[in-house]
Amino acid sequence: MDSSRFDEEIGRLNDVLCAINLLNWDARTQMPDGAAAMRGAQVATLTGLAREIAAGPALRAAIADELALLADRPENSLRRRALLDTRTAIEVASRVPDRLVVEAAALKTRAQQVWAKARAANDFASFLPFLERTVALQREIAAAIGYEDHPYDALIHQYESGMTLKRLDRLFTGLKAALLPLIDTALGYPPPCREILERGFPVEMQKRFALQIAEAFGYDLKRGRLDETVHPFEISFTREDVRITGRFRDTWLPGGLFAIWHEAGHGIYEQGVDPAFSRSAFTTDILNLYAVGGASFGLHESQSRLFENRVARSRRFWQLHFNALRLYFPEQLHDVDEEAFWRAVNAVHPSLIRVEADELTYDFHVILRVEIEAALIAGEIAVRDLPAIWAEKMKAYLGLDVPDDTRGVLQDVHWSAGMVGSFPTYTIGNVMAAQFFAAARRVPGVEAGLEAGDYRPLTRWLNDNVHCHGRSKSPDEILQLATGQGLDPAQYIADLREKVRLLA
Ligand code: ZN
Repeated sequence: MDSSRFDEEIGRLNDVLCAINLLNWDARTQMPDGAAAMRGAQVATLTGLAREIAAGPALRAAIADELALLADRPENSLRRRALLDTRTAIEVASRVPDRLVVEAAALKTRAQQVWAKARAANDFASFLPFLERTVALQREIAAAIGYEDHPYDALIHQYESGMTLKRLDRLFTGLKAALLPLIDTALGYPPPCREILERGFPVEMQKRFALQIAEAFGYDLKRGRLDETVHPFEISFTREDVRITGRFRDTWLPGGLFAIWHEAGHGIYEQGVDPAFSRSAFTTDILNLYAVGGASFGLHESQSRLFENRVARSRRFWQLHFNALRLYFPEQLHDVDEEAFWRAVNAVHPSLIRVEADELTYDFHVILRVEIEAALIAGEIAVRDLPAIWAEKMKAYLGLDVPDDTRGVLQDVHWSAGMVGSFPTYTIGNVMAAQFFAAARRVPGVEAGLEAGDYRPLTRWLNDNVHCHGRSKSPDEILQLATGQGLDPAQYIADLREKVRLLA
């Protein structure tokens, strides 16, 4: 079909959202501090413009007109999907009254500032009223959106369509039962030597090695670039410009390397979306007003975790690449072999901070947050009790005492940004990553490629089975088509069990 009014409206919306992404990328990588207030105004204006297009009469009329034309034409199913998905997203978004949208946006700006200070000062009390208001607003938003079983479902849906608390409960029950004994086993081993990762690794060299591997994974620097930031992220302005960022410390080698490979996994996803979907409904997240080709937060996370953990933390990966790493750091690593290095970057070590957690303990940081979020949104617990609840759960799951709120309830930015319901997507990503990786390895050529350090067959399979779809299918549909299964933690648990066995 030729370009229609629908395509034109979505194209305009996507252009505005890509421009917002570019301003946000700039704010987090290049912008001088003094520009913050003006930049905030620019982003707010463009967001208002995006909302006008997304909720405006032109887009609604274009959808209705074209759906009427398509009524008896099943051969246009993809086209119909674009129209129906967009209509549904507009309808869901419009259930939230303007006054809630406006208050949530204003609160978020203020709450993030207060949170940053509160975290630095270990001062939960100063953040408390803002978090209470955030939770109250999110409860109102959940009620406005609507749900079948649990109000939290309405919030999860914004990040992971089709996910519910009931499905998560089943997933988490399985993970807890399998992972807690594995952690105990791993903690019984002699601890690996982590000092070898702290020896003063020049940042320029870290970047060069990380990028060399990221390119081998399939991240295309002709359509991408790497910059430095405080909190690493990936962001795109269509598949033709997909940028990643990293943070490097010379005294902690894996921090920089694995974050780059994580973000490269996100980048490879965006760069692999079907070019025909650029500036279309299939690269536009109407609910979150965000230009993105990935089908959901969890599916996106599966692609980053796949390269970060399933590939780059494997024994085979370091057998293949440790010598190359040592060429970059001959003095620091002169007395280290690939096995010691592989052990060091896989050390199981229960810790207080989610973003620093190892693979075995990571999901407990997520489970703890999701249990708290669901209880808050259901009104079963009070915000002021969070430090105590946090401490109790941290002790129960990871055996740790929480010494202060900075390293407890104040550690993540999400709640100050009004993001309640996004944490589950990290664990969903871990689980899906294992399923995709196992399915890919069953395909001829992929395993032989991995064995030889040639990642092209793996990435080609991911391109053809995951990335190309953009947002034209749901995360559950993509997983089912690519792996023949629904979401199932069995493969993830098997991978972690095998890792613990190898670490013995
Ligand atoms: Zn990620």
